[in-house]
Amino acid sequence: MKITLPYKVEQIIRTIQGAGFDAYAVGGCIRDSILGRTPSDWDITTSARPEEVKKLFPRTVDTGIRHGTVTVMIQKEGFEVTTYRIDGEYEDSRHPKEVTFTANLTEDLKRRDFTVNAMAYNDKEGLIDVFGGMKDIEEKIIRCVGEAAERFSEDALRVMRAVRFSAQLGYTIDEKTKDAIKELAPTLKNISAERIQTELIKIAVSPNPDYLRIAYETGVTKAIFPEFDRMMETEQNNPHHCYCVGEHTLTAMKRIKADKVLRLAMLFHDIGKPDTLTEDEEGIFHFYGHPEAGAVMTKDILKRLKFDNDTTDQVSRLVKFHDYPIPLTPKGMRRAVFKIGEDLMPCLFLVKQADMLAQSGYMREEKQEELEKLQSIYRQVLEEKPCVSLKMLAVTGNDLIALGMEPGKEIGEILNRLLQIVIDEPAYNEKEYLLKQAEEMRSLN
Ligand code: ATP
Ligand code: MG
Repeated sequence: MKITLPYKVEQIIRTIQGAGFDAYAVGGCIRDSILGRTPSDWDITTSARPEEVKKLFPRTVDTGIRHGTVTVMIQKEGFEVTTYRIDGEYEDSRHPKEVTFTANLTEDLKRRDFTVNAMAYNDKEGLIDVFGGMKDIEEKIIRCVGEAAERFSEDALRVMRAVRFSAQLGYTIDEKTKDAIKELAPTLKNISAERIQTELIKIAVSPNPDYLRIAYETGVTKAIFPEFDRMMETEQNNPHHCYCVGEHTLTAMKRIKADKVLRLAMLFHDIGKPDTLTEDEEGIFHFYGHPEAGAVMTKDILKRLKFDNDTTDQVSRLVKFHDYPIPLTPKGMRRAVFKIGEDLMPCLFLVKQADMLAQSGYMREEKQEELEKLQSIYRQVLEEKPCVSLKMLAVTGNDLIALGMEPGKEIGEILNRLLQIVIDEPAYNEKEYLLKQAEEMRSLN
């Protein structure tokens, strides 16, 4: 097996070897190279101690020196070079509380999570594959190195990493490994929200976001995202649907492009359904108010998982408006754009499309036709560059102050009323006219 190492990686390995130590590229980069994927980073493992590595390169950074990691800088690029080690108990996903250095590559490979992640390579010795990583790549299997339950008890994040790699690579999880996930998924409660978030995003934007089903079946979502389990357990009994809420959600995720906000919007769009379910006399289920209820839940859950404010705001707005009835008129569209936010309109149409494609075939053509009409009205409205926010209004707060109005709440109210006039009739976005309106409003107040 020949792997083409980047020139800088080769240089680092040769320099370390020149000083009498061993060095290999290791882990994810070897897995990705074998798969013909572009590695996101190249990690190097070596028998040299950190102090020795530092002596060999003019520029290094002590990124994780306690754990044996030195970053070697080649021009402006950094490469993590880590001394072979045996890990103690982990305090987070990357950093065990204590490590012991070793002179043995196999010991280092043994501490790694999955067989496909536990291979090393250099040009001198070729592929080092002690745990059958190559065979598992051929058979498309995620399997723990060593005793699965033991490996998951050392570090619970590995439970989520197993599901994540299976989703990214389209692999099945080996039965024993899967049993151990079921046993140890509850211990994910001890893992920080930030690390869980990272893995959840990677699953969501992977080629197989529906592998979240595996997370459900193994009790992973029960530990970190129980609201998802409720969706998996809520039937829809409605002609528009052929799946339960959860399966509809997974299908909708597959039907939208691999973008973080879009995939999360699909994941959460019906999160409000279990709580809003009602049944009519004919036994048909309805979920009145689920988008609004879902938007509130989305905010809470994303906050709990420590998502940033921008992502939380965008995803919850898409959830809130995914079913919002936009009238098929330019005026109705302008009002909707004002409510929803111009920034999210293109995303909203993608969300609506994916949602529809995950429903039953009932009235599919009519729904598709209406969505296309909506988009065509949206394009038409956009061309007119309408004013749908205060910053595009022909008058500003300062204009009103110049008229002698007191800065404060009143001005805000008047500006918003002027904006409503202009949204309904764009031709009125004209300074003189709006100032006159403002004076009238003020005298009526
Ligand atoms: P990617 O970078 O694409 O997310 P990766 O496999 O490179 O995937 P990293 O988190 O960058 O994953 O870690 C690099 C390597 O370190 C892994 O391939 C694996 O060998 C090892 N590793 C990382 N995290 C763990 C962990 N929690 N337990 C055991 N080994 C781990
Ligand atoms: Mg990596």
